[in-house]
Amino acid sequence: MAQTQPIACEYLFAGAGASATLLLMQLEKTGMLSGSKVVVVDSDFTSLSRKTFCFWAKSDDSMVKDCRKLIQKSWNHLRIDRGETKSLKPLEYHCIPGLNMQNEMLALTSRNECVRLESSVISMVPDGNGVLVTTTAGVYRAAHVYDSRPAGFMSPKPNESALFQSFIGYVIEPDKPVLNTSAADMMDFGVEQHGATQFMYVLPMAADKVLVELTRFGTTTILEAESRPVLLDYIQKHFGEARIVETETGCIPMCSAPLRVGELSNVTRLGGRAGAIKPGTGYAFKNMYNQAVDIVVAVKNGRESKPISAPPRFRFYDRLLLWILSHSPEWGKPIFQQLFRRNGTPQILRFLDEKTSWMQDVRILLSLPFKPFLVALRQDLRHNPPSISKPVLLCAAALLLLLLYSAFPSAYIPLQWILLSAGLLAIGIPHGAVDHLLETGKIQGKPALGFVAKYLGIMVLYLIFWQWFPVAAFCIFLLYSAFHFGQSDIQEWKISHFPNLKSFFWGTVILSVILFSHGSEVKLILGGMNIFVNGFPGIGLAYSAALLALLWGLFEKKTAVIWSVIMLTIGMSLPVLSAFGLYFIGQHSLNGWSHLREGMQAGNKSLFMKALPFTFGAAILLLTLFWMANANLLPWSGDQSLSLFFLFLACISMPHVWAMHRFYRRTGQTDNQ
Ligand SMILES: Cc1cc2nc3c(=O)[nH]c(=O)nc-3n(C[C@H](O)[C@H](O)[C@H](O)COP(=O)(O)OP(=O)(O)OC[C@H]3O[C@@H](n4cnc5c(N)ncnc54)[C@H](O)[C@@H]3O)c2cc1C
Repeated sequence: MAQTQPIACEYLFAGAGASATLLLMQLEKTGMLSGSKVVVVDSDFTSLSRKTFCFWAKSDDSMVKDCRKLIQKSWNHLRIDRGETKSLKPLEYHCIPGLNMQNEMLALTSRNECVRLESSVISMVPDGNGVLVTTTAGVYRAAHVYDSRPAGFMSPKPNESALFQSFIGYVIEPDKPVLNTSAADMMDFGVEQHGATQFMYVLPMAADKVLVELTRFGTTTILEAESRPVLLDYIQKHFGEARIVETETGCIPMCSAPLRVGELSNVTRLGGRAGAIKPGTGYAFKNMYNQAVDIVVAVKNGRESKPISAPPRFRFYDRLLLWILSHSPEWGKPIFQQLFRRNGTPQILRFLDEKTSWMQDVRILLSLPFKPFLVALRQDLRHNPPSISKPVLLCAAALLLLLLYSAFPSAYIPLQWILLSAGLLAIGIPHGAVDHLLETGKIQGKPALGFVAKYLGIMVLYLIFWQWFPVAAFCIFLLYSAFHFGQSDIQEWKISHFPNLKSFFWGTVILSVILFSHGSEVKLILGGMNIFVNGFPGIGLAYSAALLALLWGLFEKKTAVIWSVIMLTIGMSLPVLSAFGLYFIGQHSLNGWSHLREGMQAGNKSLFMKALPFTFGAAILLLTLFWMANANLLPWSGDQSLSLFFLFLACISMPHVWAMHRFYRRTGQTDNQ
């Protein structure tokens, strides 16, 4: 290999199989190949000819139009178990012989003066704005690479499965012409199952030419020696004397584990390597065509192409099916038989295309044998329990409190104090008790005496200020609380545009919903702080704030915002202490805690231990405050425990808000970044 400098090109195709051919066809169709230097690398340019590609689509579908010249035969009826033929209308089942695809690839690359390199791609590394591709025939620098080299899968987890769809088929020329060539046999289970799911797949290409394929969905691949007598017997039985003119063998992975592939900039994965093969069926052609169309539109519009991704529920169905087929293969035959017997064929094909609605899915799933799916579901849930998000759990907790409050109103009041105290000790105070570490952001730090003195000094000064100017002190408390509450949620929801402004907005919503929905309680609390208000805005303002936040959540497309608004709205019917505690402990403190853990890369235990002295100190301070108020040593009365509690919170949180803001500026996504 004398080449020293990499050869430059615009597009390099690593692999010239079906997906690459479909993309090249789209690039040519849109004129994007002319004038571009394209290199197509494949270790074997004849591999396409050894496959047959089938797919279903309407005859006026763009896919059919684009592939029209390659399609050899289309069927408008399908059959299961050689029973009644079922119309596919408005769909048709189309077949493209691999040789047609291969010829198209060769003709197209010649027409557009693409370089065809019979070689293997060895490695790809990013190189400036492109990719350096090393092949066995030299090194290329491509602006963009389309990589369709086959990829492996990760080791399946216990709820995932790895099977093969393997098949051996004969193209036969029967002596007696086939009478009905308008129906293909999708699955004929009239063969032994041999501990797998086995069926015949029969495509009458013409009256004198039929593809008869023995297919296995199983953990082992089918062998020529075992399939030959089965095929010969079947051919004899259904077609009489016939000559075998070709043999087709193949194996498609049916795997519900993720692909083992990495991402590289300026490299787009294609076809099977991009996850185009549907695990439950082995069909990929349509996904590959759609990907090719999307890539071309994306390139034209200067955007990234969309990855191939099935909706999660279809991945779930495939996972269950594959688990059944690998663990209880005896169910494969009845499942497919029932699927086709009890549902319209076009509907099944839409389901396999992952285009059915939830309701249609349910109808199809209910038509299948229950037992194997229930077993598969049970083990899937065991190994892959659904993760219920924090906001949903918090709403459930709010509902539970409401239930308890409605059922046992008098027992609820002491209960809410117990819950609040536990929550405060477990997370509410600790989340603010590591402020001494936030300067450095390191868990190893020790509290400096000066820091503690400054912290306590601010609190005492604020308390004195509160005594003289209660209204001003309360307004300041509201302002920084709104910002601080909003800031921790905005960080949690990863809202990046105008985070400071949105923090303030969302925090104002939180306080408005809690305060305006508990007017009479809030008035009493304020009274205990020597703040006397005559009129108080009604509950309408609380609802308006909630509605505004709901619209904002929809605009931001953040379901967590919606759940938060629901939780706050449930809190409107609880006592104010519970409504506040739910938000303060369940959302604010928990979020703040997880940000601290992330930002300081610390575990729960080590962070909690660091917080412990200050948690303890704060708890002692609160109890001292209660004792002093009871002993009339404070200008606030001990009867007003709620007022005292909020006063304590206001003082303790003032320096904390500042410390957290600086922490978020360093680690998060505030405006100042
Ligand atoms: C026998 C068979 C029949 C199928 N029939 C259907 C069907 O009817 N309908 C359907 O929807 N799907 C079908 N599929 C599934 C799917 O459509 C095909 O697997 C399809 O070929 C996938 O396209 P691809 O481009 O991802 O991979 P391929 O078509 O396999 O192309 C990959 C190419 O990469 C080349 N290559 C490998 N390693 C290197 C390397 N290191 N450097 C350079 N080149 C390399 C290979 O030689 C090959 O040409 C079938 C699959 C098989 C195996």
